[in-house]
Amino acid sequence: MLKTIILLGAPGAGKGTNAKRITKEFNIPHISTGDMFREALKNETELGKLAKSYMDKGLLVPDEVTISLVKERLAKDDCKDGFLLDGFPRTLHQAEELEKIGETINRPINYVIDINVPESVLKDRICGRRVCKNCGAPYHVTNLKPKVEGVCDLCGGELIQRKDDNEEALKTRLDEYHRQTEPLIEFYSKKGIIHEVNGTKDLDELMSDIKEILK
Ligand code: ADP
Ligand code: ZN
Repeated sequence: MLKTIILLGAPGAGKGTNAKRITKEFNIPHISTGDMFREALKNETELGKLAKSYMDKGLLVPDEVTISLVKERLAKDDCKDGFLLDGFPRTLHQAEELEKIGETINRPINYVIDINVPESVLKDRICGRRVCKNCGAPYHVTNLKPKVEGVCDLCGGELIQRKDDNEEALKTRLDEYHRQTEPLIEFYSKKGIIHEVNGTKDLDELMSDIKEILK
């Protein structure tokens, strides 16, 4: 079946890390709304400035903005043989709009993978997370160290801490997740396309579970 995939999970569940592995394995585009907003911010566009005011506090960017961004992205040619959405949808309204987009481009979502991680683990992961300023690759101060401290293994870029990776913003992000995103689990369960995976597993083990689901 066509690999049209949504990755669900709380902040810190490992969506970004696993998204990179999955999209490499299946050679499909990795569409991360968080990355798209951060890219817009780096380029100092209007979209970037707007998104920043929400992201820094851990709040969701308004639906209209996010939905049109994704709609535009999914219409691109590289999505016709599949794609992976990381961080979208995050609200029921986004999920409903995504259904319509899927119909328009004739690519319904075939797989939803929900990465489960206990809340106690999320905090440590988020607060210890570092990312490459240049390519966005994720690291962790104790769990996923780069070969050379402060330097990206992949591109040599500088490793930095995201502005919303602190305890206060995380609290808001978790509240937003419970209130707005968690209802999507039921939404996709009813459609019979959701698969739960254990996000505390070793990354290779988790990847083999995911491949089993996607085969
Ligand atoms: P995480 O999953 O670790 O919280 P992301 O990089 O996916 O991080 O998202 C960072 C921020 O970008 C969110 O806190 C939110 O402000 C914004 N964002 C990303 N995706 C969406 C979305 N689908 N809807 C609204 N806001 C979003
Ligand atoms: Zn890098």
